Amino acid sequence: MSAIENAPIEEFLNTAAAYIGGGYRCNDFVSLSASEENISTDSLNEIADEIKKCKSCRLCETRKNAVPGEGVKNPLVMVIGEGPGSEEDSTGRPFVGRAGQLLDKMLDSIGLSREKNCFIANVIKCRPPLNRDPQPDETAACASFLKRQIKLLNPAFILCAGRVSSQTILYSMEPIGKLRGKFYDYRIGTKTIPLITTYHPSALLRNEDYKRPAWEDLKLLRSAFSDANLAAAGIK
Ligand code: URA
Repeated sequence: MSAIENAPIEEFLNTAAAYIGGGYRCNDFVSLSASEENISTDSLNEIADEIKKCKSCRLCETRKNAVPGEGVKNPLVMVIGEGPGSEEDSTGRPFVGRAGQLLDKMLDSIGLSREKNCFIANVIKCRPPLNRDPQPDETAACASFLKRQIKLLNPAFILCAGRVSSQTILYSMEPIGKLRGKFYDYRIGTKTIPLITTYHPSALLRNEDYKRPAWEDLKLLRSAFSDANLAAAGIK
């Protein structure tokens, strides 16, 4: 069976493993379905237009704006958050509220910015009411958009911000305190992208104790940049 034919089984097994709680298989292989694979003519704008029109789950009924994401193509780092909050819902832009301002400062501390060398997206593109956690069917309905974005953007690294993003991408039920602090291989199609997770900036705003480990995670990410990465990202 090819990877494409295998995709629904892979997804089902990974999701089931996460829910049963038997630990995660990391992401042995994030398969792309036939339609996700066939994106040679795909573009970020086309994906964004589809996201804005999407009615695949109940979140379309309460959103003001869908939030596809923003940043540069071929980023050094693709940051993946949880989902839009109130200010993101109002503006259609990711991470623009208080947590977003802190995220920008965190990225800046290691030479990164959405204007120069990052792309910022979320697992869920529409705001869950009252900022509740996204439900599994909502995450599943949005998964294909994120996979297409990752494939098209081809980031050198992925940084997952927070528990929901980290658990979703790694198919894990482990707490963020256990998932952070190390690199994973995120495999998509035939590519392998180094991925690291850290606390969500809004968790840092609530609890100062998370600042030090988050800084350690950022330093670890920074230490993995090669000279070629740094030059391409305009850092050196
Ligand atoms: N929190 C997120 O996870 N994403 C956003 O875009 C804003 C806040």
